[in-house]
Amino acid sequence: MQAQPQASHYIDGAFVEDTDGAAFDVIYPYTGAAVARLHAATPAVLDRALAAAERAQADWAARPPVERGRVLRRAAEIIRERNRPLSELETLDTGKPLQETLVADAASGADALEYFGGYAPTVTGQTIALGGGDFAYTLREALGVCAGIGAWNYPTQIACWKAAPALAFGNAMVFKPSELTPLSALKLAEILTEAGLPPGLFNVVQGAGAVGAALVTDPRVAKVSLTGSVETGRKVYAAAAEGIRHVTMELGGKSPLLVFDDASLDDAVGAAMLGNFYSAGQICSNGTRVFVQKSAIGAFLDRLEARSRAIVLGDPMEEATQMGPLVSAAQRDKVMGYIKAGVEEGARLVCGGGNGGRNDGFFVEPTVFADVTDDMVIAREEIFGPVMCVLGFDTEDEAVARANATGFGLAGGVFTADLSRGHRVVSRLQAGTCWINGYNLTPVEMPFGGVKLSGVGRENGHAALEYYTQIKTVHVSMGGVDAPY
Ligand code: NAD
Repeated sequence: MQAQPQASHYIDGAFVEDTDGAAFDVIYPYTGAAVARLHAATPAVLDRALAAAERAQADWAARPPVERGRVLRRAAEIIRERNRPLSELETLDTGKPLQETLVADAASGADALEYFGGYAPTVTGQTIALGGGDFAYTLREALGVCAGIGAWNYPTQIACWKAAPALAFGNAMVFKPSELTPLSALKLAEILTEAGLPPGLFNVVQGAGAVGAALVTDPRVAKVSLTGSVETGRKVYAAAAEGIRHVTMELGGKSPLLVFDDASLDDAVGAAMLGNFYSAGQICSNGTRVFVQKSAIGAFLDRLEARSRAIVLGDPMEEATQMGPLVSAAQRDKVMGYIKAGVEEGARLVCGGGNGGRNDGFFVEPTVFADVTDDMVIAREEIFGPVMCVLGFDTEDEAVARANATGFGLAGGVFTADLSRGHRVVSRLQAGTCWINGYNLTPVEMPFGGVKLSGVGRENGHAALEYYTQIKTVHVSMGGVDAPY
C-alpha cells in the first residue's frame, strides 16, 4: 500500500517540496512497511509558510464572518463525502482500525469545521455604559498567525480542532503534524483550498520536534496550540513565554474512573473498556486508573476479563477488527516495558500482557491489571497503550482523595446510580473534563482540556473563542476633555 502525497508540505495553497530537508518514512504500523517518504521542513520552508500566513491573515480577518464560516462548513461537507478514503488514510498513518476511523476521526474533524463555521458569525462584543454618555465597547480580534503542533493519536481530529476555531475567528495557521502521522493534515489543507479557503491561511509543514520548536519561537507567531506530552508541553510553554505568546496546551493524563457498587456494572465495564482500549489505548483522556468499590470488584473483573478477551485484534483495514497495532515499534516497546514493570511490582495480570500472538504489527493485546496499588509505576505514569489498572476502594472520600493524588488533571469519570453522588464526586475531582455514567465522549459542543500538568486552555465549545481571539477595548468620550493643564 502506498500513500505518497504530492509533496511533503502545503504552503500558500499548494504542495511544496524541499529535498534539502531530512528524509523520513511514514510507516504503516500493521506491516511495518513505508507507505510514504517525506522531508522535514528546512528553515526556508518554514519561512515560506510563515510569510504566506502573515500575508493572508489580515484580509481573511476583515471578511464577513458568515463568509469565513461558509468556507469551513463547505470543507466539513467535503470531508463527510470522502469519509472512507480519509479514514483509510488515517488507518495507514496510525494503525487504528477502520472500524474506528470510519466513525471517529474525519467525522469529528468535520464536526469541528461545521461547528466553528456556524459559530463565527455569532461572535459579538460588549458595550459598557460609563456615565455622562461615555461608553466603552469591545471587539473580538483575531490573534494573527497561530502555530498548531499535533500528536499522533488523532491526527485529523487534532488538525481540525485547532484549524477550525483559528480560521473561523480570522487567524491563519501553520500546522506541524506529528512526524509519525504526517499525511492527513495535507489532505485537510487540500480540502480547505477546494472549499474556498484563500491561499496561505492553512499551511502544513513536516518534521519532528526541532521544526516545532522553530515555529514556537518565530516572531511572526502570535499563538501556539500544542497537543502532546507533558514533557513537550513544558518546553513549548517556556519557549512561547519568551515572546509572551498565547498558548493552548493539551497534554497527557492518568485519569481516574470511579465505579460505585450501585452502578450498572455492564455500563461501567463498557466505559472502562472504551476508556482504555479504544485506539489501542492511545488516548490522552483515558481512564487508566479504574477505582472500583470493593463490594463490586469481583463481579466487575469477571465481566471485564470476559469482554476484554473477546476483543478482536487484526488487520486494521478489516472492518471486523476491533483493535489494531500501536503507532510504532517504540511505543509498543514502551508499553511492554510498563507491563513488565507491573508484573514485577506485584500487580495481578488478569488478561493480556502479550502481543496476542500477532507478529504482523506493533500489537499489544488488551491488558488488565488487578490488585494495583497507588504507588506502582503503572498507576502513576501515563502508559499510552491498552493497559488498564483496576484498584479497589471502600469509601467515596477515599476514592476522591486517591483519584486526585496525581500531578495530572485531564479527565475523570464516575459510575453510580445515585446522581447526587455523581455530581458531588465530579465537583471534587481535579480534572478539566468529567463524565457521569459515561466516558471519553468529546462532542465538539463541549469544551475539552485539562488542569494541573494536563494543560492550559480549552478546545471546542464556546470556550475556544477565548483562545483564538483577543479583546480590544474602545473608550468613547461623548463630552469635552477635562484637562487640568
Ligand atoms: P510528543 O509530546 O512527543 O509530541 C507532540 C508534538 O510535539 C509532535 O508533533 C512533536 O514533533 C512535537 N514536539 C516535540 N518536541 C517539541 C519541541 N521541543 N518544540 C515543539 N514541538 C515539539 O507527544 P506524542 O508522543 O506525539 O503524543 C502523545 C502524547 O500526547 C501523550 O502524552 C498524550 O496524552 C498527549 N495527548 C494529549 C491530548 C489532549 O488533548 N490533551 C490529545 C492527544 C494526545
